[in-house]
Amino acid sequence: MQVVKMELRGFKSFADKTVLTFDRGITAIVGPNGSGKSNISDAVRWVLGEQNVRQLRGQKAEDVIFSGTAQRRSQGVAEVSLYFDNQDNTLDIAFSEVVITRRLFRSGESEFYINKRPCRLKDIHRLFADTGMGQDSMAVIEQNRVDRILNSKPDERRIIFEEVAGISRFKGRKQDGLRKLAETERNLERVGDLMSVLA
Ligand code: ATP
Repeated sequence: MQVVKMELRGFKSFADKTVLTFDRGITAIVGPNGSGKSNISDAVRWVLGEQNVRQLRGQKAEDVIFSGTAQRRSQGVAEVSLYFDNQDNTLDIAFSEVVITRRLFRSGESEFYINKRPCRLKDIHRLFADTGMGQDSMAVIEQNRVDRILNSKPDERRIIFEEVAGISRFKGRKQDGLRKLAETERNLERVGDLMSVLA
């Protein structure tokens, strides 16, 4: 799976339709302070379903909508689409190209789409769960998080590596498995007790 393109319109400082294409390898976005570099990573988080406005450096949901400048009126809707090459079927959907879209109106109404078909936020979260791109993944690392990682204790850093390597997921499943095993052992004991009473 690879992000190949992003389209923004009315999102933060991107009033006009803006199309960014991403080639294979590393893409660096450069520009003067305040030119909108971080707004691009905010757009990635937002379209992937981020609900916490502080993670998007805002106070309220509508802060992602272009709020106007001295020369330009504000807009009524923000829209971001993110295109994925899914030829390796990382996303569990029968399309080799997948596009997810999020739209927010100033009225508060919001819309989500997968391949231009309306869906729920939950469907977006499900589609990206366990792909490394989902909510709470390390796919987007903001500036202050870099400091936090560098200053973290070895134990905390280990958790980060486990998350990146996808081990946390298995640790969670192991805990579930151990819990079920303990429950089964308790049930077996009860069966043993019943058998001894009946014998
Ligand atoms: P730096 O290099 O300093 O980190 P940057 O290139 O990452 O800067 P951003 O933080 O992405 O810049 O962009 C900040 C700009 O986005 C500011 O000029 C701010 O006014 C503008 N901006 C943020 N939200 C909106 C909005 N809703 N409407 C219009 N402009 C916005």
